[in-house]
Amino acid sequence: MNPESRKRALRYLFQKVIDPLGYKFSPDEDLVDFLLEQEVKLEQKHGIPYCPCQGITKKREDNMKIVCPCIPFHREHYDAMKRCWCGLYVHKDVTNPDELRQIPFNEIKRG
Ligand code: SF4
Repeated sequence: MNPESRKRALRYLFQKVIDPLGYKFSPDEDLVDFLLEQEVKLEQKHGIPYCPCQGITKKREDNMKIVCPCIPFHREHYDAMKRCWCGLYVHKDVTNPDELRQIPFNEIKRG
């Protein structure tokens, strides 16, 4: 499958997963396109669409937590930011993703 077709297929599949979780694709279409392209490349290399923003390790169980969409594994963290770590997904009520920023989980925990 060519990369553009695979991007469309991933988008279709991911939409089904994120919707019941209360998320949508970011309104920033350029960002979405870029990140999906990176995921297609990672999938071509590793056979799995890993997160483009989180490092793959040698531990399979850790790596399984960064397969996109990784929202279920990081729910508390992402819900607090209203976005996933990469910003590919945002809460459904978000209209301006530029207002959201990455906040390390330990900062959120400290409150
Ligand atoms: S941080 Fe976002 S883009 Fe990265 S794997 Fe998780 S859900 Fe996907």
